[in-house]
Amino acid sequence: MDRNEFIHAEKLSLQDRFRFSCDGCGKCCRDRGDITLSPYDLVRITGYLEITLEEFIDTYCEVFIGESSKIPIIRLRHTAVCVFLMRGKCLIQEAKPSVCVMYPLGRISLKGENKIKYFLQDTDCGKKDSEVSVADWLRNLGEEHEECAGLWHELIGSASEFMRSISQIQEESRLRLQGVIFGLMYDGYDGGKALAPQLRKRIDNMKELHQAFATAVETGLVSPGDAGERRNTDGQADDNIRVF
Ligand code: SF4
Ligand code: SF4
Repeated sequence: MDRNEFIHAEKLSLQDRFRFSCDGCGKCCRDRGDITLSPYDLVRITGYLEITLEEFIDTYCEVFIGESSKIPIIRLRHTAVCVFLMRGKCLIQEAKPSVCVMYPLGRISLKGENKIKYFLQDTDCGKKDSEVSVADWLRNLGEEHEECAGLWHELIGSASEFMRSISQIQEESRLRLQGVIFGLMYDGYDGGKALAPQLRKRIDNMKELHQAFATAVETGLVSPGDAGERRNTDGQADDNIRVF
């Protein structure tokens, strides 16, 4: 599904219904380079596997900088067959990534509306022989997932705005700030506590960082760089619409 198709696809809310049943073919666990992970996913998976974030990333993930968003993105390692697929079964079934739970639904958020919506991806897998509500399809994600998805979208947007605004500063400083942004986005969450308040705190911290940088530019401590860059080429970040 290309970008225009999902932007114009019918948007679904939790109470809406769609026709689909999974026949367990496993195609969605092969050759996937798009299983990006949010803190919600990372807390669930590392808790389930009882390993640290660092161990999980080193063993199972790739981290890269989004071409347009400029922010660090964590995704499951892109392999021919998912690293968690064993004898046709997902080894982290109870805690698998949101992207996997949702499939063939995708998730989208629209700036200004402050709402998460879903859409049915154009897939030829499964059958259309039964009807299910979006809420039922996503029930394994837990009650906090939609609120956290909205907050994660806000945090991504804020981090992306900041990173694009500093894209022209000296590489050494930019890399250091990338490390700070990575920590703010992904590290140090308490899996024993509700995640939504922790995400709100990160959003506040991100704003404070942005403000501190703006002050440093105003006082001549750092050069502003080119803050005008706005491109929407990596399909992950955009000022008004984000699929995640
Ligand atoms: S995490 Fe599980 S459901 Fe997701 S692609 Fe891997 S094996 Fe499949
Ligand atoms: S969601 Fe689709 S691709 Fe994935 S196992 Fe079910 S039928 Fe196959």
